[in-house]
Amino acid sequence: MPIDATQPYDEQNIFAKILRGEIPNRTVYEDEWALAFHDINPQAPLHVLVIPKGTYVSWDDFSAKASAEEIAGFVRAVGHVARDNGLVAPGYRLLANVGQHGHQEVPHLHVHLFGGRPLGPMLA
Ligand code: IMP
Repeated sequence: MPIDATQPYDEQNIFAKILRGEIPNRTVYEDEWALAFHDINPQAPLHVLVIPKGTYVSWDDFSAKASAEEIAGFVRAVGHVARDNGLVAPGYRLLANVGQHGHQEVPHLHVHLFGGRPLGPMLA
């Protein structure tokens, strides 16, 4: 079920539990600002989720409330994941679902990084 992007942050959401180490994940990158791990239901040969360590429901409150340092750290982390996995030359896709119409299911901001094959045109 898609979430309401305006809801308060839910400390019990699955990505909050991953950040706290309460449930396992397959980490591909971690730094002060972000954690990146394999999606449990991959849609491409490489499908990684990159999440900020701060408690942001969606791109909306992250862009409105996060500090410039947090935003820069998160964006740089996404770049690290792409470079570390050799995706820059072949290319890759980034996607952030937001709220009901965006079909966001987990209420902690995440960017999907897809790569490892030609992905075809973006389908809305
Ligand atoms: P959304 O629709 O953008 O919110 O995508 C949520 C993503 O989280 C989906 O691609 C799920 O497969 C993925 N997901 C849900 N639970 C887990 C988990 O425990 N580990 C890794 N990925 C997960």
